[in-house]
Amino acid sequence: MLRHSLSCLASSLLLVHVAAQRPEAPRTVPERTAHSETSRIADVENFVDACAALPHGDRIELHVAGKTHEGRGMLLVKVRSTDEGAAPSLRALVIGNIHAGEVEGKEALQQLVREFAQGEHSELLRHVELWLVPVYNVDGNEAVKVGNRRGQNGPDAVGQRANGQGLDLNRDFVKLDAPETRILTRLFREVDPHLFVDLHTTNGSYHGYHLTYAPSLNANVDRGVDRLSRELLEATRAAMRGHGFETFDYGNFETRDWDGGGAPESKGRGWFTYDHRARYGTNYFALRNRVAVLSEAYSYCDFATRIAATRAFVLTLLQQLVARRDDALETMRDADERLTRGDAAWFGSATVFAEAEQLPVLVGEVERVQADDRPLRLVRGDEATPETMPVVRRFRATRQRRLPRAWAVQHATAEVKQRLQWHGVTFTELEQGATRRAERFAVDKKRKPKRPFQGHQELVLEGHWQPAEDLELLAGTLIVPADQPLARLAATLLEPESEDSLSSWNFLEDQTGVFYPVLRLR
Ligand SMILES: [Zn+2]
Repeated sequence: MLRHSLSCLASSLLLVHVAAQRPEAPRTVPERTAHSETSRIADVENFVDACAALPHGDRIELHVAGKTHEGRGMLLVKVRSTDEGAAPSLRALVIGNIHAGEVEGKEALQQLVREFAQGEHSELLRHVELWLVPVYNVDGNEAVKVGNRRGQNGPDAVGQRANGQGLDLNRDFVKLDAPETRILTRLFREVDPHLFVDLHTTNGSYHGYHLTYAPSLNANVDRGVDRLSRELLEATRAAMRGHGFETFDYGNFETRDWDGGGAPESKGRGWFTYDHRARYGTNYFALRNRVAVLSEAYSYCDFATRIAATRAFVLTLLQQLVARRDDALETMRDADERLTRGDAAWFGSATVFAEAEQLPVLVGEVERVQADDRPLRLVRGDEATPETMPVVRRFRATRQRRLPRAWAVQHATAEVKQRLQWHGVTFTELEQGATRRAERFAVDKKRKPKRPFQGHQELVLEGHWQPAEDLELLAGTLIVPADQPLARLAATLLEPESEDSLSSWNFLEDQTGVFYPVLRLR
C-alpha cells in the first residue's frame, strides 16, 4: 500500500545507523519472476514504498498526481538530493507506460528509484530534481492480457495500449480529452521541467538498435531548443555505446499515414522518422521551449535487455543534461525571453519531411519463435549490418507567417477557454465590445476524413487571409497575447493553418463559418 512518505521517512532515518537491521532492497516483479511478468500498479506502489525505507529513502517523496478515468491514483515519485548545499537548477519529468503494453519504462524507473534510495547518483541529484511517473496509463496497465502486444519478445501478458476511455494518450496532447493528459499538463505548468522523457517500445522495422529516440519533431520549436535537444541526444548516443547499447534516431524503413489523419508518408527505401504534430507528447512539449525526448526500446530485444537499455538511456540523458546545464538553462531562458519581448517569431505550416541525410543505419533481422501454446515472439538476431541510406529525421515548414501581436478568439466556448487554461496559455477577456485592427481568415473549404479518429473527425481548413481592417469585437472575446513564453504553443492551438490545433479537433467548428473565429490583431 502507498503510505504517506513522511512516515516512511522517519523509520528510514532510524535505520541508517543500524546496519544489521538495514531493510533489504525490494526487487521488481521482472526480477522476481525471471523476467516472465511485469508489474501491476499495486506492485509498483509496494516497491517504491519499500524503497522509501532504504538508507537514502528520504530522497524520495511519494505523491498521487491525480485520478485516472477509472478512478485509480497516478503515482508520482519525486526524487531530490538531501545533501547539504545541493541546489539543483534543473528539473526533469519522466513517464513510463503511456502505452501500457510497452512495459520496460515502468520497470526501469523502479530500478532507478531503488538506486537513488540506496544512495547512488549523488552527483546527478546535486543538479537535477526528478519527477517520475512509472505508470502513466494506470487503467491500461491493469487491463493485462496475453497478446496485447503481438510479437513482442516477452513478457507474454501486458497491459493495453489505450486508456480507460479507449483513447491513445499519445495523441491527446492538443485536445486534452483524457484526465491523464490533464494531470500531466498540470505538472508541466506547476513543475515546469527542463526535460520531459516519454518511454515507449517500438515494434516497427527490423533494425539493429537496442533503443531509438527522437527530440520534438515539430517545425515550430525554438531553434536554440532544437539545437540543444539534438546535441544532447548525440552525446547520449555516444555515451550509450560505452554501456554496450546501440541507439539512433527513431525511424522505420517506410512510413505511412497509419491513422488516416494526414501523417507524412515515405517514398523509396530510407530511414524515416514519424510525425511532427503536437498531438504527440514529445512534439508538443518542446513548444513550451523545453527539451523533450521520446525513447523507444526495441520490442524484439528480450525484456531484461529492454529494461537495461531504457534504464541506461534515462540515466545517461540526465547526466548529459547536467553536463551542459549552463547551456541548457541559458538556451531555454533565451527562448522564453525572445517571445516575451515580442521579437520577430514566425509560425510555420504546410510541413514536409526535411532533406534526407546519407547516413549508416543498422539493419537487423528477427527470428520467429513459437513454443507450444505460447504466443509468437520475434527475437532480435545478433547480427546487424550497417547500410548507408537516406535518413530523414527532421521536418520543414514550407509556409511561414509572422506571429501577430495577439489573437482574438471570438465566441469562445467554455471548452476552448478551459483548454487554453490547462495548456497554461495566458489570455484576458474583453469586458466590453471594442473595435480593433485585425486580420481574418476566410474559409474556402472544409475537409474531414470519412472515419473518426480518437472520438473526433479532424477538420482541415483551406482559405486565405484578408487584409487588416477595423473589426468589432464583442464583450467576452478572449485576447491571447503573442508576447508570452508559450506563444508557439498558442499559435499551434489557434492558427487556422496549424496542422494540429483546437480547430483540428472540432473545438472551433461551430464558430467557423465564412470566417475562422480567431483573428490576428495587429
Ligand atoms: Zn508507444
